[in-house]
Amino acid sequence: MKYVNKITDVIGNTPLLKLGKTVAHLKPTIFMKLEYLNPAGAVKDRMAYYIVREGEKSGQLKKGDILVDNSSGNAAIATSMVAAALGYKAVFAVADKTSREKIDLIKAYGADVIVTPTDVPWNDPRSSYMRAYELGQQPGYFYISQYHNQLNAEAHYHHTGREIWEDTDGKITHLVAGIGTGGTISGTGKFLKEKNPGIKVIGVDPEGSMFYDWVNNGTTEGIELYPCKVEGIGTDMIVKAFHPEYVDYVIRAWDRDSFRIARWLAREEGVLGGGTTGSHLWAAMEVARDLDENAVIVTLACDSGQRYLSKMYSDEWMREQGYEIEEEENKPVSLK
Ligand code: PMP
Repeated sequence: MKYVNKITDVIGNTPLLKLGKTVAHLKPTIFMKLEYLNPAGAVKDRMAYYIVREGEKSGQLKKGDILVDNSSGNAAIATSMVAAALGYKAVFAVADKTSREKIDLIKAYGADVIVTPTDVPWNDPRSSYMRAYELGQQPGYFYISQYHNQLNAEAHYHHTGREIWEDTDGKITHLVAGIGTGGTISGTGKFLKEKNPGIKVIGVDPEGSMFYDWVNNGTTEGIELYPCKVEGIGTDMIVKAFHPEYVDYVIRAWDRDSFRIARWLAREEGVLGGGTTGSHLWAAMEVARDLDENAVIVTLACDSGQRYLSKMYSDEWMREQGYEIEEEENKPVSLK
């Protein structure tokens, strides 16, 4: 018999997909690590499981505790899955820009949701960060604190980084990854640079966020901050899970490009990613433009487009946001 005992046993070891048609005009090989094949559908499953297990091991997390955090959705879905599998209750504060699908998923795993306003700074008492922080200080709550918890990056150091290194037979030359909490890029980047200091680690930051200036210009002062429409990357606050020393530089990905590239990838290669998958592919293509056939670029599809059917995969929503839908894109392939 071959089986697993818990759903959490199938977290990680996600496949690397060699991209084809969408990158055929470029010389390097570009791989996309399909993180949406994790059991709760996103890269965040890794961090959620790791933090909860380490909490149990250290004794800080006790039976009957309620897991709490703020999240752009995926960390909450992941932690809800882990909570259900391991027997905990959970509650999450999420900003009201979070897609309906994501909120429903958190609830489907049996966790509670507090919806908070998007348009307030992180230190406003109404923000999702502050609501989760306040609850996290109460007895009986276990605060995941994905934005500041060093275990977030550690999960990626031990797993995501090693998997990429092994699956490329050590041939990876460039990692391209979006930055939300910074856990993925910091942990994965650290592992890869320890294996080969020549590997370039390139961050992807959406419009309205501070990682671009933080890394490229060494400052977080005087930046115009605003919420982007892509969900899962970007920040308006200093996050301790992010370690800029493992990042060579950051590329800015605009919402419009991210959505259009993700929609195109779904149609051309059958990879249905979320907005950040589009940001990642857009940035990976920027990086690839100046490289030759010896370069091996790895990027990630962090979550599934199924989470955004009512948003970026809805033509109506795209038009409401002022994004043009090209006629070609909507034509059935047989009529082109
Ligand atoms: N893409 C998506 C869709 C995400 O949900 C996240 C996590 N917020 C990221 C990218 C970025 O990952 P990290 O938080 O590890 O920086």
